[in-house]
Amino acid sequence: MLNIVLFGPPGAGKGTQSEKIIEKYGLTHISTGDLFRKHLGEGTELGKMAKSFMDAGNLVPDEVVIGMVDDKIKSTADSAGFIFDGFPRTVPQAEALDKLLTDKGHPISGMIALEVPEEELKKRIKERAKTSGRVDDQDEAKIDNRIRVYQEETMPVANYYQEQRKFSPIHGVGSIDEIFMAISAVMDAY
Ligand code: ADP
Repeated sequence: MLNIVLFGPPGAGKGTQSEKIIEKYGLTHISTGDLFRKHLGEGTELGKMAKSFMDAGNLVPDEVVIGMVDDKIKSTADSAGFIFDGFPRTVPQAEALDKLLTDKGHPISGMIALEVPEEELKKRIKERAKTSGRVDDQDEAKIDNRIRVYQEETMPVANYYQEQRKFSPIHGVGSIDEIFMAISAVMDAY
């Protein structure tokens, strides 16, 4: 079983690369951003609760995120493994994920971290804003806030996996296929 954390700042290309990884390796995609947007669209209590945090570009509280991921893992029957996208975003989330997976007997294989300079991230998010319909993509202040939250709250998650010797950085600038080849090389070595 292959359990991958795909890591990187907003706009790093996690969603794009996830699609290619799923196709090649047959993994189950768990994107917490997508799950929240689904709840939002369906008007569930969870969606209503998450909305204000998401719109401002802040993190949804850990216990809410962890509960949602736990439900998703439990409701997935037989899978070749999971690709976690946009999760874990805090160290307590990483600790909770380790516990969930250890209980199942299949720990995280590794974290693949897409590294992209800040200027390039902003350019990509502004381009995506034209079609994404996402409130948090629309203005400069919200984009800046998401990048700041990433640096302050999410970057420590990389150290968490580094300490476990499960950290693989990938240069996230180039063509989609070039980046995917670099990711595949790392995954094939797990
Ligand atoms: P991004 O392109 O910013 O990485 P995502 O689609 O992954 O976007 O997430 C959108 C928003 O959903 C985040 O800004 C945050 O409010 C919320 N969110 C997603 N995943 C998490 C998480 N693991 N912990 C807390 N909040 C999250």
